[in-house]
Amino acid sequence: MPNNGEANKNFGVYINLCCGVEIFIAEGRVFPDCPNHPRLTTIWKPIQKDKIHELPIRRPKADTTV
Ligand SMILES: [Zn+2]
Repeated sequence: MPNNGEANKNFGVYINLCCGVEIFIAEGRVFPDCPNHPRLTTIWKPIQKDKIHELPIRRPKADTTV
């Protein structure tokens, strides 16, 4: 996983492991420091936004059993 100061190779949304801050970063941009930990190494983990939609979501109108 990329750290702050590295150039991004895969455009997308990333979350940092220390504080859970989400960023959207384009390919070729440098990963920023964590806003709360500017002097520490920050690891940015890619988020697969498409996968989030696969999580079970309760849809009230889909379940009409009495
Ligand atoms: Zn942090």
